[in-house]
Amino acid sequence: MSFFTYRKGVLHAEGVPLPAIADAVGTPAYVYSTAALTGHFGAVVDAFGEARPLICYSVKANSNLSILRLFAGLGGGFDIVSGGELARVRQAGGEAAKTVFAGVGKTPEEMAAALDAGLLLFNVESAEELEALDAVGRRLGKKAPFALRVNPEVDARTHRYIATGLKTSKFGVPFEEAVALYERSKKMRGLKAAGLDCHIGSQLTQSSPVRAALTKVAGLYRELKARKHPLEYLDVGGGLGITYTDETPPSVAEYARVVLAATKDTGARLVLEPGRSLVGNAGVLLTRVLYRKLTPAKRFAIVDAGMNDLLRPALYEAHHGFVPLVKRRGKEVEVDVVGPVCESTDVLAKARSLVLPQPGELYAFLSAGAYGMSMASNYNSRPRPAEVLVAEEAWRVVRERERTEDLWRGERA
Ligand SMILES: *Cc1c(COP(=O)(O)O)cnc(C)c1O
Repeated sequence: MSFFTYRKGVLHAEGVPLPAIADAVGTPAYVYSTAALTGHFGAVVDAFGEARPLICYSVKANSNLSILRLFAGLGGGFDIVSGGELARVRQAGGEAAKTVFAGVGKTPEEMAAALDAGLLLFNVESAEELEALDAVGRRLGKKAPFALRVNPEVDARTHRYIATGLKTSKFGVPFEEAVALYERSKKMRGLKAAGLDCHIGSQLTQSSPVRAALTKVAGLYRELKARKHPLEYLDVGGGLGITYTDETPPSVAEYARVVLAATKDTGARLVLEPGRSLVGNAGVLLTRVLYRKLTPAKRFAIVDAGMNDLLRPALYEAHHGFVPLVKRRGKEVEVDVVGPVCESTDVLAKARSLVLPQPGELYAFLSAGAYGMSMASNYNSRPRPAEVLVAEEAWRVVRERERTEDLWRGERA
């Protein structure tokens, strides 16, 4: 169910007309729906039922403090990939004891801060990282709880830039090296083997790669238990896809059935790391049309949001719906929607059939809640957009638009 719907031709987020937000905070601006966020989280809880997995929201998808606080309030944990994300989680009131830490390049400083904070699980991605974590644990007189992130070597059948479980991927340790590494870890006094982890990619639209990967990983979990490793957690990663245009990803219920079937008999407490599936369709990016450029070869609509605000189209050839905030009748023509950034890849919506946009008109990029603001940059010295959270008829700014002087904070002339 979408919480972004037209009422009398005007696009609303829950009960709030989006033009009112655009007029009040300006554009570009991200707008999120509390009901969508809560609903998506609740759907995971319901789908997994009595298995009661720990739902570790993947912070990199959208790291706004208010969103982290909302998920923490729903009992969620967090999946982080940096010390900065851990700091955000704690600032938002999230618990380190429900947080798992992935990433191929954790520094000893990041490891120490996380261990000190009482992190649940370090998802270790290489043999050398395991040694570094052991050293940190010994230095602090603690046993760092770890899971190896294994690479199950399955093709997630997603865009090549977001597949992480192939043999050639930089993520995870090779599947066949895992047992030997766990055995070696028995002699490492700064470590405690607490789980096993995998994550095969993002925007997964088929359940068969999930089934294949988790069947392998569950087999490995059982083998490790038989070898007397005191594992408790089986972290199945994230990656469930969403509908941007015509994709038909598995429903949460189907995903849960596949995960539960593949991991039953392990006795493990499941950890999930959903990112996009919780926040992607809970947010839109509002933008205003600046100009048209109508040439014999092409029609362009130039909008005030650019690839610095929403990078996914330039980075992954991603598709975001592009719709007017106020519906208008007219003949549809083919338009490329482009941003102001000086890059040829700053095309946010390509070859769309639209009633020719007018200067000043407001539009929304849909499904922009995940990997939108969290990837925004100041490229071209553009201040990053505001973020707004809607709840029923109310809304509030949860991140101010950056000001011009923020652009050079910390710099010296
Ligand atoms: C990015 C990431 C996720 C979340 O992926 P989504 O596709 O947003 O669900 C989960 N786990 C790890 C290790 C990640 O890097």
